[in-house]
Amino acid sequence: MSENKNILLDILNYELIPYDKIKNSDYLPAFKKSIEVMNEDFSKIISDPSPLNLSSFEKSTFLFDQLKIIYNNKRRSDSLDEENLHKEEIDKLINETELSIYTNKGIFKKFKELKEDELKTTEEKYVYKFHMRKFLENGMFISENEEKLKKLKEIKIKIASLISKYETNLIKDTNKFELNVTNEEDMKEFPESIKTIAKNLSKEKGYESGYCFTLKFPSYSPFMMYCCNRELRKKMYYAYNSKCYGGENSNVELLSEIVELRQEMSHILGFKNYNEYVLSNRMAKNEENINKFHDSIIEKALPKAKEEYDKLFKFANEYEEENKRNKIDTLELWDLSYYSDKLKKKLYDIDSEQLRKYFPLNKVFEKLFNLIYDLFEIKIVKEENVKLFHNDIITFSMWYNNNKMGYFYFDLFPRNEKTMGGWVYSLKPKIMNKYPIVGVNANIRKAVTNKIEDTNLSLYEAETIFHETGHSLHVILSETNYKSITGINVLWDFLEMPSQMMEEFFYEKSMLKQFDIPEDLIERILKVKNFNVGIGTIRQIEFSKIDIKLHSGIFKKGDDIEAFERKNGISVFKKPEGTCIFCAFSHIFNATYDYSCGYYSYMWAEVLAFDAYDEFKKSENKKAVAERYRKWILSKGGSDDPELLFKNFKGREFSIEPFLKNKGFIE
Ligand SMILES: [Zn+2]
Repeated sequence: MSENKNILLDILNYELIPYDKIKNSDYLPAFKKSIEVMNEDFSKIISDPSPLNLSSFEKSTFLFDQLKIIYNNKRRSDSLDEENLHKEEIDKLINETELSIYTNKGIFKKFKELKEDELKTTEEKYVYKFHMRKFLENGMFISENEEKLKKLKEIKIKIASLISKYETNLIKDTNKFELNVTNEEDMKEFPESIKTIAKNLSKEKGYESGYCFTLKFPSYSPFMMYCCNRELRKKMYYAYNSKCYGGENSNVELLSEIVELRQEMSHILGFKNYNEYVLSNRMAKNEENINKFHDSIIEKALPKAKEEYDKLFKFANEYEEENKRNKIDTLELWDLSYYSDKLKKKLYDIDSEQLRKYFPLNKVFEKLFNLIYDLFEIKIVKEENVKLFHNDIITFSMWYNNNKMGYFYFDLFPRNEKTMGGWVYSLKPKIMNKYPIVGVNANIRKAVTNKIEDTNLSLYEAETIFHETGHSLHVILSETNYKSITGINVLWDFLEMPSQMMEEFFYEKSMLKQFDIPEDLIERILKVKNFNVGIGTIRQIEFSKIDIKLHSGIFKKGDDIEAFERKNGISVFKKPEGTCIFCAFSHIFNATYDYSCGYYSYMWAEVLAFDAYDEFKKSENKKAVAERYRKWILSKGGSDDPELLFKNFKGREFSIEPFLKNKGFIE
């Protein structure tokens, strides 16, 4: 009898997730049941004459939410054995159900009837705000006006389909181009490993000889770094930066259509423009604040960027002369990566592969966990007997005063069907579980022996472990009482603050020393971190500025996007004629991770992180700072205004100064 039991129906009562006992065929019936439970609860809430209880409302979707997390996590990380899973049906069910929650008229009415004084705590106000925003996005505030609501739905569907076309075009144009290099002379500066890959690809594509490169980043990026033939670099640069800018897979029209529809949607929902719509739910609050933010960084970063440009230009000609080649008139964008790499090597001589020997995975864990203990008195213990969905998953628990706080696990290594990149998943949020579980997912290189304990990390991978643990602390130390605002459920531009701050601890001299890196190498590592940082910062601001301008309502159908970028961007390089960034910018036109009107948030969070870290750096009593940090930032999640939380922690409003100092823009 017990064998036939659907374990997923009981999943909220499990401390961990018994992935090994869940069958594919359990998912669909469990989802159906969870929706039934949710709808029954909704009926009770709607017919209850007393004011809406926010906890009861959130609880009604606990089972559905938990299933969704478990299912999505499995889909992204585990092998895609789909037998008996009914994937399409489940996906459809999830989409429909999510929509049905925030278009439920009865529930919305209960929310509207809640009086201000019935929301007693700040936390309740923020939960309320969170859900009201969802109702707003789904058009419930205009639901009296049938015509407007219909229009809104149409626009949303249209945007989704145009973005899907945009993405398809981008894939097609990326795949369309290839460059087969046949002259050995052009290949002389490439590392052997890259040459081998390119040679194999050339064979695969049916060329008689040569080295083949494509516009996929792992191929494009080394090409631009190592190809000494400037004309070929230019050719490649143009191919890469004019993707979908005209031609059979053009995104020119689609782009302006999407931007216009976003604008129209914002109007219907009662906003002046798309920026106002998006930013009304962000820490940055409005366009003016972002412009000020950009300007204050540009003021200090632009002179530095110009200086770096001049240095690189001078070096480029010295390098050409040394190699008995012609001088160059101007340093162009297709020269940046090539000469930067040479100059960096000349100045700092760091071999990133050689650095791996200093960072055995287990040592990285050990040093990081010591740091966390020193700051927060939180002990991190390896859990040997926890089984999740793969043997490579490493699980830890966090302890404070001998009380278990929660679990976090690392699923670090690539597998065939695992999604690329890295992400954090709040697998069992607090509130829903006595011990929250958070998963850190990445794709880092495993040792050739295939043993976890033999794995050594690159500098970047070690930094990533620190970063993701910052997110994990945010989840596990959360003390909020509501699911929607617990842990990392914070405003978008605040999310990366605690994680980026942890990176700074990694780059402390005293930390790097613990990895037995020679002192002079540590100095070089720290200098390389800020190599050409002015150029990089200005480049990032260029994207953000165009993103914001594009969504401010001034860009109209038929406008020239290339001219628009030139006018509204900023750069120390001449923008090459006939190139366009936003025709192939998947951040801004993305179905899964929509960064439209949000590109600024990378730097915004970084500025906050440096300012928070500065508090630790300059204090004698780090434990006291950590206690304040835990109290005002980590424990609060999204239960209050991030600006205020930051102010309470720091004792003043956030400042860009530590960021500017750290990057070397000011003394
Ligand atoms: Zn992150």
